[in-house]
Amino acid sequence: MPGRLQNKVALITGAGSGIGLESSILFAQEGAHVALVDINGQAVQKTHKLISERFPNVKSVPIQADVSKEDSVKNMVDEAVKAFGRLDIMWALCAIQFNNAGIMHPEDDHALNTEERIWDLTMNINVKGVWWGCKYAILAMRNNPTDQSKGLHTGGSIINTASFVALLGAATPQLAYTASKGAVLAMTRELAMVHAREGIRINSICPGPLKTPLLMDFLNTQEKKDRRMVHLPMGRFGEAVEVARGALFLASDESSYVTGTDFKVDGGLSSCYVTPL
Ligand code: NAD
Repeated sequence: MPGRLQNKVALITGAGSGIGLESSILFAQEGAHVALVDINGQAVQKTHKLISERFPNVKSVPIQADVSKEDSVKNMVDEAVKAFGRLDIMWALCAIQFNNAGIMHPEDDHALNTEERIWDLTMNINVKGVWWGCKYAILAMRNNPTDQSKGLHTGGSIINTASFVALLGAATPQLAYTASKGAVLAMTRELAMVHAREGIRINSICPGPLKTPLLMDFLNTQEKKDRRMVHLPMGRFGEAVEVARGALFLASDESSYVTGTDFKVDGGLSSCYVTPL
């Protein structure tokens, strides 16, 4: 059985941990060749080693890059294109790009307490990082070959990680983070509109609260965890792999008529009014 991403190349940012790590494994399992990107060089090497051992037929390339810097993002896409571009004409140069890297800073707070440097750092990584990622993915995808069987330009699929806090205000504030994720949704919709006729689909994914280092380092006491748990319809935090499965759908041709969507993988959090038992 061919995998759901057979003959595709996927570039995944934040591949060293959490959603990015699980998506890298899942995409490789489904046959994609993967360009693994993270600011943390050691973490991305670990993901690369794991994938190379587990999926010997898949080509994996580790790339250290900072998504908040335009030069770094341009280089990461160039490196991916160089690594995969000329190997086989059937391969799209960069068919899937998952702009997933992001931060939630422990000093991010409400409007009165959040310092400008925290705001700027968060915006640079979470918003500018997605902008640069989309810009260079679109430029690479424009060079993809035409699918002769369908007579269509292959284009590609871009997925940007937002969050449920882009849809709901949270009583435990992280102003910069929330604003940054709202920007990801708005930007993604407009990009989807502008590039739809080029065969490039662009979607956001909105995870609920997950058991990944990003959130668990932040919710570092039982009291903090319990305060959130009461709002979760399923009574548990999500797993990174559950978001990776949503990203797999958006990455694959199964979502060929899906673009501009805010795809929620939040255990019902944003649709339910939950009261304590
Ligand atoms: P994580 O902290 O486990 O992984 C994030 C990865 O991104 C890390 O490996 C980190 O090194 C990398 N990274 C950070 N800054 C970077 C930069 N400037 N350039 C390149 N890489 C960088 O986090 P996660 O939970 O897997 O989060 C992934 C995405 O999901 C983020 O955008 C986050 O905002 C979003 N999200 C997470 C949750 C959650 O509860 N964990 C909920 C909603 C949305």
